[in-house]
Amino acid sequence: MGNTIFSKIINKEIPADIVYESDTILAFKDIRPQAPVHALIIPKIEIPKVSDIKGKEHAQLLGEMIDAANKIARDTGISEDGFRLVFNCGANGGQDVYHLHMHLLGGRQMKWPPG
Ligand code: AMP
Repeated sequence: MGNTIFSKIINKEIPADIVYESDTILAFKDIRPQAPVHALIIPKIEIPKVSDIKGKEHAQLLGEMIDAANKIARDTGISEDGFRLVFNCGANGGQDVYHLHMHLLGGRQMKWPPG
């Protein structure tokens, strides 16, 4: 098992504001929200980062993560106006927690480039 803070959230060792849960996926509100809606969607298995994903092995899981994001977007009322999904990967990508996570950001106009 991994030892990131997200592993502890999966194991319910530390609290989180959970917005979606299935056998394979957990999603919870980001503790430092960067938009009115900011959730993190994570697999329950340990994948440290995007560059560790193997397409054939993890395709189903990634599809479930997108399904979860779409459900949360609908539930929070941001689906119509649009939203952003972000994976930060590694040091230059700005990744802080080495347990794969997809940011769902919405409820305001996003800027491009993200900086
Ligand atoms: P990243 O920079 O892509 O690795 O993003 C990590 C995210 O995890 C940041 O947006 C943090 O605010 C968020 N985060 C860190 N610890 C927690 C926590 N205990 N509960 C919820 N979100 C967290």
